[in-house]
Amino acid sequence: MILTLGFAVGRMLHLKRTCPKCKRHQVVPHEKKHQTVRCKYCKADIPPKK
Ligand SMILES: [Zn+2]
Repeated sequence: MILTLGFAVGRMLHLKRTCPKCKRHQVVPHEKKHQTVRCKYCKADIPPKK
């Protein structure tokens, strides 16, 4: 149980992205790892990391 949770958190940290506009960090869903996502704070588009 605890090991499973740790693994999930590790994956979430791996998917953190920084908004180029407001510089805030947010977690991107795993299925959108390679897609442009919308910043939940300022609605700017955040492109995937190259
Ligand atoms: Zn933003």
